[in-house]
Amino acid sequence: MKNYLLLTPGPLSTSQTVREAMLQDWCTWDKDYNEGVVTVIRKGLLSIANLDESEYTSVLLQGSGTFCVEAAIGAAVTSTDKLLILANGAYGDRMAELAAYYQIQYELVSLHEAAIIDGAVASKALAQYDGITHLAMVHSETTTGLLNNIEAVAEVIKGKGITFIVDAMSSFGGVPIDIKGLGIDFLVSSANKCIQGVPGFGFVIAKREKLMATKGNARSLSLDLYAQWETMEKGGGKWRFTSPTHVVRAFDQALKELNEEGGIAARYERYKQNHRTLVDGMRGLGFKTLLADETQGCIITSFLYPTSDFDFTDFYYKLKAQGFVIYPGKISDADTFRIGNIGDVYPSDIEKLIEAVGKMM
Ligand SMILES: *Cc1c(COP(=O)(O)O)cnc(C)c1O
Repeated sequence: MKNYLLLTPGPLSTSQTVREAMLQDWCTWDKDYNEGVVTVIRKGLLSIANLDESEYTSVLLQGSGTFCVEAAIGAAVTSTDKLLILANGAYGDRMAELAAYYQIQYELVSLHEAAIIDGAVASKALAQYDGITHLAMVHSETTTGLLNNIEAVAEVIKGKGITFIVDAMSSFGGVPIDIKGLGIDFLVSSANKCIQGVPGFGFVIAKREKLMATKGNARSLSLDLYAQWETMEKGGGKWRFTSPTHVVRAFDQALKELNEEGGIAARYERYKQNHRTLVDGMRGLGFKTLLADETQGCIITSFLYPTSDFDFTDFYYKLKAQGFVIYPGKISDADTFRIGNIGDVYPSDIEKLIEAVGKMM
């Protein structure tokens, strides 16, 4: 039951069994749903991240990933705080956009889309701007496929009392992240990326004491992260407002499948293999990647148009006719298109894609 293979990083291709998990209806106040599904997911998220429930907690929230980034920043950063945003793409810039909506004091360091955020970028920004209390950045910048160096940034802010907020939307579940070791206070991700569920909600993994300190900070009723957490925690898995039941059940199945695959480490290996197969194959056909291999992550890859008269729309529809759906590019100063490696997608699928592209060239 697949119309095509989605090589777009979210929504992405899900397994038949994840989609089948949505064939039942669930009662939102019964414990078979709240204890049996929601609480299992909340614990499961901490478990795959190797976190202890006494120190960390997780909150699920309706909406797409951005809703959760907004809820996390809206909870963590108060009117007397100052947020430093390190950005190198659309998702980093979006954090600044939402900080402006919330009238949060912030400084935005917006790098070129091909430049990595590393320790030097963080050090320089902290030397330049006074009074920074919070730092937010994207891990896997889906705009290009660049994997930022959160480890190096964590090293720079260590011991400085700065709250660390990471948008790991397109990496959590598919790339190992040592949340505790890096001192990440709020990590945000969503159902329809590397955990391979369907869209409809996102989640925040937070250091318990940091989340507790956000009570009353929210400037949005429906995105009040603390209130959502409190209802879920005290209500044994209850959501504050209508829960996306089918999507949540599908996510429960997706988490089981992640564990059956061997956890995050095993999934990371598969994604790396997908990426390697893709890049080697495309280079073999004469395509060039936008990014250097050193900054490129394994989630999504940007390719430059092979010629100045390359017709992306034509390319897209020809590939779609063969069962593959890809992404247009999203950057300002180069003509690119993107191909995702995540989802229920295997190296053999990528080999078939390369064959299809090869026939068109
Ligand atoms: C997908 C994604 C988001 C969230 O986007 P939504 O469209 O709101 O789901 C945020 N940040 C990154 C890096 C993403 O890849």
